Amino acid sequence: MFKVEFTRSVKGKHPIARFRLNREECNTYCYVGCGRKDNNITYYGCNQCKGVDRNAKGCKQIHLNGTVIVNGDPSIGHKEGCKALRTAVVHAEDYKRRASKEVRVGTTTIGNARLHNHSLMLATCDEADVDETETRKSWVLKSLNSRLNKNKVMRVASITETGDLPQELK
Ligand SMILES: [Zn+2]
Repeated sequence: MFKVEFTRSVKGKHPIARFRLNREECNTYCYVGCGRKDNNITYYGCNQCKGVDRNAKGCKQIHLNGTVIVNGDPSIGHKEGCKALRTAVVHAEDYKRRASKEVRVGTTTIGNARLHNHSLMLATCDEADVDETETRKSWVLKSLNSRLNKNKVMRVASITETGDLPQELK
């Protein structure tokens, strides 16, 4: 039986479904619609297929009942050139996103968000069953720093309305 995991979507209201092809690779799927006759069945399309030519047509679709894939082997039927994601990269990305969010909402400094989420990311490698070495490599500080700095600038704009600088900028 093939099963997906659901993860929260950043933009949409529907979660992203993730299917693991093996320890190293996975595909992510976004919501396309639900069954006309049977509302328990939902349709999800492969994001990596969509990445091949930005065209939704011909993308691999999976049909889900809950978390169970009911239309056969999800590794078959992808567009030519559809490249699966690395699970370690996806894992690192989850924690980068968390760090980013913490900075944006102002609950922590950039340095703390980075340290805290880096250690959480490594501590959860076993549980998530991803390669720790590859996860470490995927935590690229340069891109993360620029993302966090951008978020800080966005946040500061609203905070300075009170006339006070946040502690970490003093
Ligand atoms: Zn695909």
